Amino acid sequence: MKKLTMMVAALGLCFLCAQTPLAGDTLATVKQKGVLVAGVKDSLPPFGYVDEKTREIVGYDIDFVKAIAQRLGVRLDLKPVTSASRMPQLSEGNIDIIAATMTKTPERAKQIDFSHTYFATGQKFLVKKGTVKGLKDLEGKKIGTAKGSTSEQNAAQALPTATVLSFDDYPQAFLALQQGKVFAVTTDESILAGMLAKAPNKAMFEITEVRISDEPYGLGLRKGDAAFLAVVNQALLEMERSGQAKAIFDKWFGPGSPTPMARGFVIKPD
Ligand code: GLU
Repeated sequence: MKKLTMMVAALGLCFLCAQTPLAGDTLATVKQKGVLVAGVKDSLPPFGYVDEKTREIVGYDIDFVKAIAQRLGVRLDLKPVTSASRMPQLSEGNIDIIAATMTKTPERAKQIDFSHTYFATGQKFLVKKGTVKGLKDLEGKKIGTAKGSTSEQNAAQALPTATVLSFDDYPQAFLALQQGKVFAVTTDESILAGMLAKAPNKAMFEITEVRISDEPYGLGLRKGDAAFLAVVNQALLEMERSGQAKAIFDKWFGPGSPTPMARGFVIKPD
């Protein structure tokens, strides 16, 4: 009986090991499995969204992980995540890397590691045209955003009298704005611009000049995964050097895109 219990316990342990890759061996496991599993957004153009024609998830974030998988010589598997689920999914071993509009913060860096910054934006507000000139116009209002985001934290800090309503993701918050249930939606300007560009009634809304934070994006890796982090960072720097990173930027944010950005972005070592 005792032997049986021990066998069951040992089996259970093996199962756990298989489920939770040890930090530090992602590079080896990815190569061995022949697949890189990336946690991405699937409803946030132009970062990660489902292409209407191909039904595939595409976007700026996707192009970066695609290039990394190519360099590793492995297949890419995309798993949709939300702002709140991306870190738990990574630590539970369900994904190998986060490429999901994720801001690098010192608080998050206590739990996961970040690559060099591969995109930079800042937090603004999407509102009905003409309703907001300054931060004070947002005071005491209902503001929609996403759970588990920096947007949620920054909004609560910048507007202590506002009611911050957190949705699963930003499209739900935008729907609440369209239905008049919130006064504004707040998150990174590039996400707001991406949602607005696709909205049928876009002429009714605008993005404020008011900007409450800097949001540098990093790819998220399990803590202490030094070999994998080195390879990812090297890939990013090589992509910058070769012009591949600029081509990805121009594809999604260049002058001909639905969400043009005046300034480009250059990837450098942190
Ligand atoms: N970049 C911000 C964050 O990482 C807001 C966008 C998001 O929720 O992914 O929290």
